[in-house]
Order: sequence, then C-alpha cells, then structure tokens
Amino acid sequence: MTRPSQRTRSRKHISKALPGGRTNIHFKREVPKGGGCASCGKPLAGVSPLLPYEIRKVNKTRKSISRIYGGHLCPNCLKIALKQAARTLSVV
Ligand SMILES: [Zn+2]
Repeated sequence: MTRPSQRTRSRKHISKALPGGRTNIHFKREVPKGGGCASCGKPLAGVSPLLPYEIRKVNKTRKSISRIYGGHLCPNCLKIALKQAARTLSVV
C-alpha cells in the first residue's frame, strides 16, 4: 500500500525493474515552480526549475542570468525600475 503522502498525482511515478523480474513504482519528488519576477510574478527565462540536488550539478549559467537583478526581476520590470531610479536622482 502506498504511503498516504505519496497518494498524489503531482509526484512523478517511475516504474523500476527490480532484480527479481518484478516492477515497482518509485515516486520522484514534485517539480519545483522555478524562479519568478519579484515585481510582476512572471516566470523568469534562463532560470531552470530544478530540485536542489540537480541545481548542484548544473552550470552557473543555468541558475541565474548575468544581468543586474538577473534571476530576480524580469527585463521589463528592470527597465521600468531603472527609469524610475534615474528620474528620482537628485542632481545637486
Ligand atoms: Zn516582472
């Protein structure tokens, strides 16, 4: 009988062949949502939604974007934020 915590369709079911010739179902962890923009909530491109043990294996370029506020704000929100910051600068 399956554990109650695993009786959900959001976990990926993987059929594994056992040494005795039988098969068994293993449950993979739920796939994380991935990064979203801190301002508008839109999913960020270039940030892979991976499990922690998978994140440790991938390159730095798949974890974040090499732009200021990359991996935190989407390009549209960054453009707006930079414009607003430049307009509120007080030139003395
Ligand atoms: Zn945004």
